[in-house]
Amino acid sequence: MAKISWPQGRNRWLYHRSPRSKPPTRWYQQNILKKPDVDPKCRLCGRFEETIDHLVSGCPELAKTDYIHRHNKAAAHMHWKVCKECGIKVKERWYEHEPKRTRLWGMPIHTDRTIAANRPDTELKNKRDKTCLLIDMTIPLDTNTSVKTTEKLTKYKDLEIEVERMWGLRTTTVPVVIGALGTVKKDMENHTNKIPGNINIHGPQKITLLSTAHLLRRVLSIK
Ligand SMILES: [Zn+2]
Repeated sequence: MAKISWPQGRNRWLYHRSPRSKPPTRWYQQNILKKPDVDPKCRLCGRFEETIDHLVSGCPELAKTDYIHRHNKAAAHMHWKVCKECGIKVKERWYEHEPKRTRLWGMPIHTDRTIAANRPDTELKNKRDKTCLLIDMTIPLDTNTSVKTTEKLTKYKDLEIEVERMWGLRTTTVPVVIGALGTVKKDMENHTNKIPGNINIHGPQKITLLSTAHLLRRVLSIK
């Protein structure tokens, strides 16, 4: 019997549990269902095998659209809560919130030196405490959540140092890493607890999971 990697097996519910089941991935059709006529390559990019892993976070075509949309939705929820906590006027419902219209969202920080990673999702200065948080969310493949957390912390190190030097604010990077299928590492709270507004990771986590499920349903129904 062909080997089934755990994401493929574990996540079968994503299409088998629904009464309106969608056909499985092309990789699954060829390798598990043994359909010789099926090309296992991704129906969107045609470059990689079409597995669940590929579709939920590895497809270059979806990276241009769906992954950005998923990230922005989950990050908007968090941003909305932070804004409320900071006394910034926001819409009543988070999904009506437009982070780009507030000054806390994705604006590059202008530094004296050129720094490549200078655009975290949110930069939060607290002048009273003389602190600054660089909050950045990412939604990788679930098995990569640990690696991505470390990557984020490293990525913004130069910016942290520069912000401290320029503004005299004690600066901390806060990575918010949620697996495309909802995995959140236990120690993620150590980071998210630094964000004001009693940020509960379950909100963005649920949004991520629903976005991924929607994405899969949409892609797998494309003939
Ligand atoms: Zn693809």
